[in-house]
Amino acid sequence: MQAKQKSLEAIALNNLEKPILLAGPCSAESKEQLLQVATSLQNSSTINMLRAGIWKPRTRPNSFEGVGEEGLKWLSEIQSELNLPVVTEVATAQHAQKALEHGIKNVWIGARTTVNPFSVQEIVEALTGEDVCVLVKNPIHADIDLWQGSIERFMKAGITNLAGVHRGFSSFLNSEYRNLPMWNIPIELQRRFPELPIICDPSHIAGVNNLVPTVAQKALDLNMAGLMIEVHPNPKEALSDPEQQLTPKDYNELIATLVIRDAKPESQLIINQLEELRAQIDKVDEDLISTLLSRMDVIRQIGQYKHNNNVSVLQLERWNEILTSRSELGSKLNMDDKFIKRLFELIHQESIRIQTNINSTK
Ligand code: PEP
Ligand code: MN
Repeated sequence: MQAKQKSLEAIALNNLEKPILLAGPCSAESKEQLLQVATSLQNSSTINMLRAGIWKPRTRPNSFEGVGEEGLKWLSEIQSELNLPVVTEVATAQHAQKALEHGIKNVWIGARTTVNPFSVQEIVEALTGEDVCVLVKNPIHADIDLWQGSIERFMKAGITNLAGVHRGFSSFLNSEYRNLPMWNIPIELQRRFPELPIICDPSHIAGVNNLVPTVAQKALDLNMAGLMIEVHPNPKEALSDPEQQLTPKDYNELIATLVIRDAKPESQLIINQLEELRAQIDKVDEDLISTLLSRMDVIRQIGQYKHNNNVSVLQLERWNEILTSRSELGSKLNMDDKFIKRLFELIHQESIRIQTNINSTK
């Protein structure tokens, strides 16, 4: 195949149409494997970048740790032969320099690197002043400030062609997911950086291939800017993450069936109807707050009464009874009982705070 272009510019994330699509194997295994994935994806669905890891952060030694520098050669050949931008993980300043030497200007910072400000800073310094596109994955654990901090390190160095990548959060809890999505965290990141594209990585959230489509659709429903999905020509034989990778055929089918929703509807009718419903929500929320205020007034009276009569603030039996009866009422009214439980836990916490304050200020 003839080279169309020697070295591609870094992808300009803000110029891409949404959803931005990144796909490719967890790990680069051979040039043939990369070519196979790249051509099967390029034919039937658009991808903006081919992803492939060459330095693989593995939990335990003696597992496949990536092909290393040799893979950079394959990636840069694919990039120029197919005119298809590639993106790979860099975990050290040296990785970053090597990637640049090979004309790889799109890189991602892995979840295990984002947790370490020293490593991130070293990579920032290696990339400063270069034409690069950097995707910053969320840290392994649910620490939004750490995620924000890594992004800010790049911004501070003038590297603004950035995206966040939501790959879920490790947890001890038993869950159907490999990494809990905790959608409120990427939503909060978006609130803090309204202009930052946030791309979802359904593969590392799901951990199994059959959960990938649901997570991908949910990400688009939440108006995320794109998807990074692991695709392997023969997932079962993959040297890393075999359970979660899709075949090119499944990937192409998934992309064809995803529903892309309007972030900002243009139809005046839709805008007006949404406005009307939002006005109703505003009213309900006002009522909700004044109802809570009445509850807290009674809480204060009870607190005062307990204080005067030397009764302890926490009454475990009563608290159990509240939890059970409110969850039951919620279920009866077709509400999610777990939500009601969480809500009352929060309300009870605040009640306890108010009542203990009465004791300590008297
Ligand atoms: C990957 O994308 O292959 C990877 C290692 O991801 P993460 O850093 O999210 O675990
Ligand atoms: Mn992987």
